[in-house]
Amino acid sequence: MGCIFCKIIAGEIPSNKIYEDDFVYAFDDIQPQAPVHSLIVPKKHIESLNDLSDTELWAAMLNGVHEVAKAKGIKDTGYRIVVNCGPDGTQIVWHLHMHVLGGELLDAKMG
Ligand code: 5GP
Ligand code: ZN
Repeated sequence: MGCIFCKIIAGEIPSNKIYEDDFVYAFDDIQPQAPVHSLIVPKKHIESLNDLSDTELWAAMLNGVHEVAKAKGIKDTGYRIVVNCGPDGTQIVWHLHMHVLGGELLDAKMG
């Protein structure tokens, strides 16, 4: 059973890379919901937010958010981060990821 994001990290599926370090990989979402819509994933396969207990990795993901915001030029205009967790959170890909949305005034509602 193949994980699509593990394949993207391994370069087996092409992606538009925004940022990468030892811990995380960031790339554009294939179905953008805003002018900027990128995803930040841990390089290690972790199924969901429920399985994240490594605070160093969590910090690396937040650093990835800053790097994406800088690279996309939205650090000052602002953005939203979203983590969908589990069935009710409408998580579709079971490899932990953080959405970064921006580039326009987002709906005031959450999500
Ligand atoms: P989720 O609902 O699990 O939080 O969102 C998964 C996200 O992954 C969706 O926004 C979807 O568009 C994105 N996605 C799914 N498959 C691919 C892919 O092969 N490449 C890229 N770049 N994004 C993908
Ligand atoms: Zn994976």
